[in-house]
Amino acid sequence: MHDGDIEGGCLCGAIRYRIARGRISETGYCHCRTCQRQSGAPVVAFFAVAPARFRYLKGSPAGFRASDHATREFCSHCGSYLVFREDDAAATVSVNTATLDDPALIPPLYHIYHESRIGWFETADDLPRHARGID
Ligand SMILES: [Zn+2]
Ligand SMILES: [Zn+2]
Repeated sequence: MHDGDIEGGCLCGAIRYRIARGRISETGYCHCRTCQRQSGAPVVAFFAVAPARFRYLKGSPAGFRASDHATREFCSHCGSYLVFREDDAAATVSVNTATLDDPALIPPLYHIYHESRIGWFETADDLPRHARGID
């Protein structure tokens, strides 16, 4: 998939981030209720990278802990939900694809938490639909 450095940021521009080049294979749609509520949207497209590949270039995010193992990072000024970061340093950082400067670079490959999909929302694809998480 995508193979160079990629950048993104929040709606107001206070926060910018960069992801170092490398393969991105873990990318999907999350239909869980927490993502729906945090984003205010029916689904969140995300991709996962090793924490060492992700860094903020400008600004620093606010954080919200919706669960006891991860922090959801967002812009405290405009509210853009940017990153899902697990406490485990060995875990991946999940970046919300729509906050990339070019979101088309990383198309989702599966759906997770499909059991929480909103009934009126469906995407026209044949990607695997997992009722909950994959692991
Ligand atoms: Zn912002
Ligand atoms: Zn979710």
